[in-house]
Amino acid sequence: MKTMGLYVHIPFCKKKCLYCDFPSFGNLEGKYEEYVCALEQEIERRGLLCRNWQVSSIFFGGGTPTVLSKELLARLLLKIKESFLISADAEITIEANPGTIEKEKAEALRKMGFNRLSMGVQAWQNRLLSTLGRIHTIEEFQYNFQNARKVGFENINVDIMFALPTQTFEDWKETLEKITELNPEHISAYSLIIEEGTPFYDKFQKGELLETDEELDRKMYHYAVAFLAEKGYQQYEISNFAKIGRQSRHNQIYWQTEPYLGLGLGAHSYFNGNRFHNTYDLDKYILANGEIPILEEENIAVTKKAAMEEFMFLGLRRTDGVSFEKFFERFEVEMTEVYGKAISGFLEQGLLVQTDQKIALTQRGIDLSNLVFVEFLLDE
Ligand code: SF4
Repeated sequence: MKTMGLYVHIPFCKKKCLYCDFPSFGNLEGKYEEYVCALEQEIERRGLLCRNWQVSSIFFGGGTPTVLSKELLARLLLKIKESFLISADAEITIEANPGTIEKEKAEALRKMGFNRLSMGVQAWQNRLLSTLGRIHTIEEFQYNFQNARKVGFENINVDIMFALPTQTFEDWKETLEKITELNPEHISAYSLIIEEGTPFYDKFQKGELLETDEELDRKMYHYAVAFLAEKGYQQYEISNFAKIGRQSRHNQIYWQTEPYLGLGLGAHSYFNGNRFHNTYDLDKYILANGEIPILEEENIAVTKKAAMEEFMFLGLRRTDGVSFEKFFERFEVEMTEVYGKAISGFLEQGLLVQTDQKIALTQRGIDLSNLVFVEFLLDE
């Protein structure tokens, strides 16, 4: 039977962080119930279209899924279990802001079937958390991390960020040290990107916040890669590190361009060779009440050319790289026939390395990955 992933979007947060451009809204408690009702309807309808598929991974993301009550979350998970065929060993992840996951809720989540928790802490220093507009302190994170362990979460990811305004190299080292002392199974480490439309962007425009210079950004990244390796975290993607056997199955689905369905507001899907996404308009989504509110104009069949480009961009993000054989299996043409010139150029420049039957980015290639990816775009 074919396997797929499910992504469930919960577009609510207690309060928006100042750097965040994810589709989520703060202070909308009044909409939670109606949203969950519409989402349940969508889950049911989509499930009817996926009778021949087995779900190997479910990811509740956001937003902050844990702003919902345990009753609402239980309803959603139950509806998924009733509507889709779920593998017995499915990875079932929920993202949690450390300020929204007290012990009782963590215990309820574990009991209802979530077996992986992803906590966004971002930094160890309260002054940086406050600069970012996070709603929690580091003490709350520590307390709730330990509680999650106590109630049985044996697979926890922690998100951290570098290149933050006023963050020093020492701050970053401390964050890495303290987080690894907690021994989570997985760590995601992202460089802050200032996105247009966020309060951070306005502050940078006005000169009220200073951007981290490129040299410090790279120094922090290289330090993290070496430090995490020393602590037993294997880097398996540009920004992701895991203990052996603890790579996120859900992320792998995205990077290996395997099929997944996105459920909920603005959620993206790649399914049956098509890419599409739901509306970003919350009221429209709720009013549609599960009528599969896809933006039709975005429901596009992925062309062979676009599929090849994605295969290369996403595959090269993984430290494992992309396999010549898998490329041929997928597209019935040799990778070198399509990309021979780009590959040999990057091998010569030391941005790619060829091992066995694969190519992968070198450390320098990772630093210049945006430049590399551009060369994998194909002419019309
Ligand atoms: S908690 Fe996450 S999704 Fe919500 S505003 Fe902050 S960064 Fe964005």
